[in-house]
Amino acid sequence: MITTYRNIHYPPETTTIELIAKLLGMYTQATDQNQFMNYLRDFQSKVINEDLMICHKMLGPNFENQLSQLYPLYCKAFGENGDVSEFMTPQAFKTFFAIIGTNGQGIGTSPFAEWVKNVSELKLSNDERVAVESLIDDLYQKMDEKTGLAFLNNEGSALYVTQSKINHSCVPNAVITFPSSDHTLSLLALDDIKCGDEITISYLDDCSVGRSRHSRQKDLMENYLFVCRCPKCEEQINDPDVTSDEEEEEEMDEE
Ligand SMILES: [Zn+2]
Repeated sequence: MITTYRNIHYPPETTTIELIAKLLGMYTQATDQNQFMNYLRDFQSKVINEDLMICHKMLGPNFENQLSQLYPLYCKAFGENGDVSEFMTPQAFKTFFAIIGTNGQGIGTSPFAEWVKNVSELKLSNDERVAVESLIDDLYQKMDEKTGLAFLNNEGSALYVTQSKINHSCVPNAVITFPSSDHTLSLLALDDIKCGDEITISYLDDCSVGRSRHSRQKDLMENYLFVCRCPKCEEQINDPDVTSDEEEEEEMDEE
């Protein structure tokens, strides 16, 4: 199943399948299966009727075909276990994809970067510092030659029960970080947050959040199925409905 999925999805290609396996494992081992189902329903709440759209986004334009390719493999991989038979329907399969599509939090950690950070905090003589820095440069270069720097990070994704409830804002007052370079998620305040203020994060990456209102809204609707009404979007409510790419093209046409 992972091999098939790898052929139709961009990296990190295996994490969705691994998350599904983990959810099924958690269900069979849960002491309270009702509580587990409640967690699942919590994640699922906003995607019930729109899950096909999320699958579309995750798997690309051939999603129908790809899902039907994956579904028998899913049943083969997990269906032998009678305890999870209720998750073996086509609808349950699609719902898993939708839950991970809307709630999955990407995790990028780099043990090497962590080591570099630790070394930089050591008290070293000038000579030692020069030697260490040259070693680091050399290692980065060798890694780049062997694997490409893009693969330096361990990429993964996870579902966080509490974090998945934090709403989006295009002017967020907090950001998600992984301070221990593992799956431990932490929220870092970007601003003074007063008692009673809602904590918000950006679901869009740094590049997308800087785009026009129209582009942001399009991105958020396609990926997360909601219309953003954050202070920035409200302030820009009268901006023309053009995407940033169109804006760029227009600017190029004018030149
Ligand atoms: Zn917004």
